[in-house]
Amino acid sequence: MNVSESDPTKLPGEDAKPLPADDRIRWDTFKSAFGEFVAATRDTDGLEGATRALEQIMGGLDTEQFADALHIPEDAGEFADGLRAMLIRIPDGWGRWISCERGWYPLLTELDRGLSALLPSYRILQVKEKFAGLRFYWRDVERIVDPSDPEPAAAGETTSPAEKARLLADHEAWERRRAAYLETPEGQARQQDLDRRHELADRLVKRAVEIAAETCELCGAPGVCCQRRNGAWYQTLCGTCADAAGYEPVPDDEDD
Ligand SMILES: [Zn+2]
Repeated sequence: MNVSESDPTKLPGEDAKPLPADDRIRWDTFKSAFGEFVAATRDTDGLEGATRALEQIMGGLDTEQFADALHIPEDAGEFADGLRAMLIRIPDGWGRWISCERGWYPLLTELDRGLSALLPSYRILQVKEKFAGLRFYWRDVERIVDPSDPEPAAAGETTSPAEKARLLADHEAWERRRAAYLETPEGQARQQDLDRRHELADRLVKRAVEIAAETCELCGAPGVCCQRRNGAWYQTLCGTCADAAGYEPVPDDEDD
């Protein structure tokens, strides 16, 4: 079991650091070499050299380290702290970055403030733009337990099989006591309170998605769904950013 899962007061990325400069350079080099590799697939001689270059760089890449480092966007500006607070909620292995442009940073950091007030141990799994819309995937790890009967310790990597069996039995007995606690008036009231907070959180996320659909992803001004000219790329943009990026509003074929 992940330690951060069993301790809801600790966020999974609290100890994570930004990627060291050397590794960032290595990844940037990889990305540009990969671009050359893709371009070289039509040129046999170039392909051989590009493959060798790629292999050499990939040897030094640590994808796990890359995913777990904090990727605070370089254009975060005044939202750096707010975005950092979001990234440390992302569990190991999911990739601690946010895949959208800066125009949405204000609404995202505001959403996170609302969610963390409601659900202090909520986790963010993924935040990204897709088909011009905001996708915000999250879950909560808070569980109602009897305060006088805390969850027993879980088995560790060095626990012996006999000890593991005993811990498992302890845990099953505890789960039954917890189920009984949830039937008491106190347990029921606390579970209802948690359910209500989850409902409010769902509403906050839904509202943020609605706001994003009307907010230019690049600059934060009011925007509409746009499509790249001669392309199948969509993005929510204001008129100025759409013009500059070669996008135009998607015709609204609803009659309203
Ligand atoms: Zn704009």
